[in-house]
Amino acid sequence: MEARVSQYVRSDLRGFTGYASARTSTQAGTIWLNANEAPQENPAAPTARRYPSPQPPELVQRLAAYYRVLPNQVLVGRGSDEGIDLLIRATCHARQDAILVCPPTFGMYEVSATIHGAATVKVPYAYHHPNALIDWPAVVKAALTNPVKLVFLCSPGNPTGNSLALNHVANVARTLEGKALVVVDEAYQEFARSPSAVSLLAEHENVVVLRTLSKAFGLAGLRVGSVIAAPELVQALRACQAPYPLPELVIEAATNALQQEAWPNVQPVIAERQRMEQELSKLPCVEAVFPSEANFVLVRFANSDQAFAALQQAGIVVRDQRYHPYEFMANALRITIGTKEQNTEVLACLEAL
Ligand SMILES: *Cc1c(COP(=O)(O)O)cnc(C)c1O
Repeated sequence: MEARVSQYVRSDLRGFTGYASARTSTQAGTIWLNANEAPQENPAAPTARRYPSPQPPELVQRLAAYYRVLPNQVLVGRGSDEGIDLLIRATCHARQDAILVCPPTFGMYEVSATIHGAATVKVPYAYHHPNALIDWPAVVKAALTNPVKLVFLCSPGNPTGNSLALNHVANVARTLEGKALVVVDEAYQEFARSPSAVSLLAEHENVVVLRTLSKAFGLAGLRVGSVIAAPELVQALRACQAPYPLPELVIEAATNALQQEAWPNVQPVIAERQRMEQELSKLPCVEAVFPSEANFVLVRFANSDQAFAALQQAGIVVRDQRYHPYEFMANALRITIGTKEQNTEVLACLEAL
């Protein structure tokens, strides 16, 4: 397995072990004078005197238990955003290799690729009322005919909202074995009915899953995300990561948060999403509500300029999606599910149109 998974890593990084920090040293002792830390705690943050563990064992264990994988399949880092960046840097030769995305999708894949000097191959979603659907044969063809090292799939999709069928993901992974990693970004998985792609890891060495505490756990400000992958790939990504990716105070808060099975905020958000889907689709100004398995709804308006302006006027800020060059997105706005009261205000504002 080791040799097989390393074929996805950049040839010049195979065997690269990264920076050996004072924290990764395996020495034993009771008086630690190897990292030039201060001898006294700072009362402003007494638990932060020492450099943090690069992969805090208790946090990694709790994440692994929550995602139902083994601790050596988890790399924790500064949000899934860092996971995306690490995957691109570890697998793509700059000015040579490419990633593949299915727009409209999360913007960070292309941003990270561009900064690294990797190209972005785009296979747009096709619109089949009421859903935006991935063009699977086109994804496979484009991945095989371009120097693609990473295929980014988002499930549930941002901003499209729907989940991908795992049999399609598995087929793409099988076809691209030995050529590319298939990354399933599950930032919104807790809100979905469909199962996680984590179940594909046992059968498919080239499947990678991204998860985050930013959405369902209500901890976007902590910046904690996980890459879930084959252990050898986790090691290769770790070698490319900053020496101490998570601050001590963040490690403490995230470890505490994972004491509960799932943040109790999820069910009320799902209930409100269903109410918003129903109520929005009754409004005369709304053309279509995309079925959502996430904590937002994508809504197509008869006139999205008017809807955007009316919401803005009422002090309600939503995500403009009109910059996407796809016809089915031309009049679309993405609305995050808020509290019951906030959602009712959104409806009241749009009812008047
Ligand atoms: C919000 C979001 C993320 C960002 O996750 P962080 O862990 O906060 O970096 C990743 N992917 C998608 C699709 C998102 O919508």
